[in-house]
Amino acid sequence: MNLIDTTAATAAGAQVPVEIARAETLRAETRRSLAGLDRAGLAQALAEIGVSEREQRMRVAQLWHWIYLRGALSFDEMTNVGKGLREKLSVAYTLDRPEVVVEQVSNDGTRKWLLRLPPDIAGDKPHDVEMVYIPESDRGTLCVSSQVGCTLNCSFCHTGTQRLVRNLTSAEIVLQVMVARDRLGDYPGRDRAVGPGLPTEGDRLVTNIVFMGMGEPLYAYDSVAKSIEVLADGEGLGIGKRRITVSTSGVVPEIEKLGREVGPMLAISLHAVRDELRDELVPINKKYPLKVLLEACRTYPPASNAKRITFEYVMLKGVNDSPADAKALVKLLAGIPAKINLIPFNPWPGTKYECSDWETIEQFSDIVFRAGYSSPVRTPRGRDILAACGQLKSETEKLSARERLALRAMAAAAE
Ligand code: SAH
Ligand code: SF4
Repeated sequence: MNLIDTTAATAAGAQVPVEIARAETLRAETRRSLAGLDRAGLAQALAEIGVSEREQRMRVAQLWHWIYLRGALSFDEMTNVGKGLREKLSVAYTLDRPEVVVEQVSNDGTRKWLLRLPPDIAGDKPHDVEMVYIPESDRGTLCVSSQVGCTLNCSFCHTGTQRLVRNLTSAEIVLQVMVARDRLGDYPGRDRAVGPGLPTEGDRLVTNIVFMGMGEPLYAYDSVAKSIEVLADGEGLGIGKRRITVSTSGVVPEIEKLGREVGPMLAISLHAVRDELRDELVPINKKYPLKVLLEACRTYPPASNAKRITFEYVMLKGVNDSPADAKALVKLLAGIPAKINLIPFNPWPGTKYECSDWETIEQFSDIVFRAGYSSPVRTPRGRDILAACGQLKSETEKLSARERLALRAMAAAAE
């Protein structure tokens, strides 16, 4: 229902039963949230309520401070903004975040939140996305999603089996970080979360962002690029670009663009050292084969020895885990400032793959280590809450209770 229809229905409200009138009023809630917008978006919102162009700059700076640095949840908190403008803002807008539908805390401190995103365009329906917080002693990494589902069907990935796909907006990406900070009390002056596994060093709980949740970030390029500028802004959320990593399956044209225009850290989902196998595991390889992909890495503008590219390599039993594969991997990456991240495969119901044995992973890791790459195995985190890599799947395509049990049993067996 559009705004005009709603007004008409409300105007006729005197004749309709109270419940219906109330429902219509609720449906008429059309106030947009300002949380998640970039500076241009905030300026536009101010213009829409009559703030003059001359005043906008100062007001944007104030909103920015309250929304992103202080985590304000209402306009009333904005004490240096005049009462009149605060009232105008709250009539027209909110600072709402997406609803948290489920919160789970793993016994290792990992947290997973299921967020319900309201429709972004008329006719769309709400979508659920998951995000995962992985704490370590000196940092807290938030794994965010860039799409609902994914159009690329990597054969070992659960997200790729999801039918629904839409790009998230940049605001929806930023809001994931804001919700995590809300839930962890990670704003100055808030009650900071306490619990096992949370960082003990530094004054922030969310210090790093990885685009390793649902979706292919470089297929949602505009949203991802814009969201990184908001996240990295030193006067707001302040998560520097060196602490933001975009993981891609290898959308080559966008890799160079991302480096040149935005400049975050890069991770490549490599997973195979031969085109034949990579075509099968990561089908986008047919379009952008290894040679082209590695050339894009070699010339990635921000890469240097201090800012290495991470190569992710999922360990699949009998598929890509032989000593010969490890040697070929090292050879392939020669000349690229690289880190290698070996990821134990996280199984899901219906998959044909198994995780490599622990000895095989160690052997593989030794070869890589001897070639000069340190501590490359990624420890599985949050397996008890299905939060580990590749296990993200939104509630819109809910797993059946039986599938969940099967998944838990498989994860436990793989420990
Ligand atoms: N689409 C992007 C980012 C999301 S996937 C990409 O592919 O890089 C994040 C990482 O999890 C990728 O390296 C992906 O290959 C890996 N992954 C996917 N499914 C997995 C699984 N079942 N077990 C382990 N890692 C998985
Ligand atoms: Fe998509 Fe990444 Fe999963 Fe491949 S691994 S299907 S690109 S989310």
